[in-house]
Amino acid sequence: MTTIREVKCPLCGRLSLYAPTNPYRPFCSERCRLIDLGEWADGKYAIPVHKEAQSYQEESGDEDEAILSNNDADGDSEPES
Ligand SMILES: [Zn+2]
Repeated sequence: MTTIREVKCPLCGRLSLYAPTNPYRPFCSERCRLIDLGEWADGKYAIPVHKEAQSYQEESGDEDEAILSNNDADGDSEPES
């Protein structure tokens, strides 16, 4: 004998089956259950936000010229074994 009841979803208030067939009981859906558990806002379901890249480099072309000529070192310090 299985007693199937209808309960209101604690989150959205819709009727949901309080039955073994409803794994999200007493919530109506997985979404409501996750929200109630706090997992919804925990980043698992977070929508990736595309922000405009605010770090653009100025191409002034008038940087220190020493940086360009300082990259000529042959880094072969370790002897081969
Ligand atoms: Zn619900």
